Amino acid sequence: MAPASTSAGASPTASPTTTSLDHYWMPFTANRYFKTHPKLVTKAEGSYVTFADGRKAFDCLSGLWCSPLGHAHPKLVETVKRQAETVDFCAPFQIANPWAHQLAGKIAGMAPAGMNRVFFTNSGSEAVDTALKIAMAYHRLRGEAGRTRFIGRERGYHGVGFGGISVGGLGPNRKMFSPLTLPGVDHLPHTHNLKEMAFTRGQPTWGAHLADELERIVALHDASNIAAVIVEPFAGSTGILVPPVGYLQRLREICTKHGILLIFDEVISGFGRLGSNFGAQHYGVTPDLMTFAKQVTNGVIPMGGVIAKQEIYDTFMTGPEHAIEFSHGYTYSGHPMAAAVGLTVLDLMQQDGLIQRAAEMAPVIEDAFHSLKGEPGILDIRNAGLSAAVELEPIAGKPGLRALNLFEAAIDEGQLFRAAGDTLAVAPPYLVSKDEIGRMVDTIRKLVRKC
Ligand code: PMP
Repeated sequence: MAPASTSAGASPTASPTTTSLDHYWMPFTANRYFKTHPKLVTKAEGSYVTFADGRKAFDCLSGLWCSPLGHAHPKLVETVKRQAETVDFCAPFQIANPWAHQLAGKIAGMAPAGMNRVFFTNSGSEAVDTALKIAMAYHRLRGEAGRTRFIGRERGYHGVGFGGISVGGLGPNRKMFSPLTLPGVDHLPHTHNLKEMAFTRGQPTWGAHLADELERIVALHDASNIAAVIVEPFAGSTGILVPPVGYLQRLREICTKHGILLIFDEVISGFGRLGSNFGAQHYGVTPDLMTFAKQVTNGVIPMGGVIAKQEIYDTFMTGPEHAIEFSHGYTYSGHPMAAAVGLTVLDLMQQDGLIQRAAEMAPVIEDAFHSLKGEPGILDIRNAGLSAAVELEPIAGKPGLRALNLFEAAIDEGQLFRAAGDTLAVAPPYLVSKDEIGRMVDTIRKLVRKC
């Protein structure tokens, strides 16, 4: 039942019967559908969320790939309180807070060797646009101002800034803005092929050759015009598309050969989701720039950023010492609340061996999800680290509806999945148990048999 609509400014206690749904224009949401199927989360604790109507569900996607430590972690609650009383905000330009510097050092320590300079943003989208700007400015500073083109990938998701939608490969996100997307962007083919790789466990062995398409694009434009290639090590938001064995290595080789920077968008893969610190280490390929966001603060306070190779940073540090080297940044870059929370999150990940734990649970989720093979209407099952997706046969003429129906029905079964197109995705908190994974899979099995 839809909550009664009241005037603007309903109580912050979010009572389900008095919260107005009239004013908030929800992002990436079917707003009219939501009003008739409202789902307001009024409590989030551990790995569970509770809705205003009393339903409680396991948070299968850790928020939105953000909360690997679960919700309301006592140490994070304590950090937020302490930091709010110590330095709640300080300007990020000309002065700084120590937590941002400490966090940058901590992140550098987790990144691949040589990637040790960190620029903070507030979101993944800002991180992507920042990385693109760093790449373009880097070439210009080195006397190669012609290198302005970018290469993204079909079905890539890089946030919603103009840079991000330009290199991203999702029609719905960019077609309304086409005239204003970045000029000079090409897209590699995506790496998903149902015929060749359906039901592959982990990395497909078919498809490394798709990286060679980069050579064709380079030949078309000439390397002297190309700034960077950007890809997600594995694509998360578009339904867990796993890189074929050797594919990222091939991209690295071609980029290096032509002096093109390689950017890994690690907004989802960063900080342990694959059972390694970053996708770069997991797949054994070191890019030149990496973006991150989400898990760095467990989603508690927004934060994102870019990790750069030292050589890239050094290229900027050449003008007069008193002059700004990179005219870019955000009021909330390196926000002390976010930085303090980030430090606690990364400490907890290390002290409690959480990334190792994600690595240990990866085969459990792989086995559990692949046991669904053969169930009705399942076209594919994919997994990467501690994440998995089931691709469903769409309802004719209504793409996305089948996954949405299952997503709705699953909440009644106590499971909050993520419906993305016709896939259902999970990326649970790192402390997920075998039983909890079993319950996710049992729910999918039950629902695909009846929905
Ligand atoms: N890049 C990737 C790979 C992402 O998955 C996302 C968000 N899912 C973004 C960028 C954008 O992040 P944000 O929503 O924080 O702007």
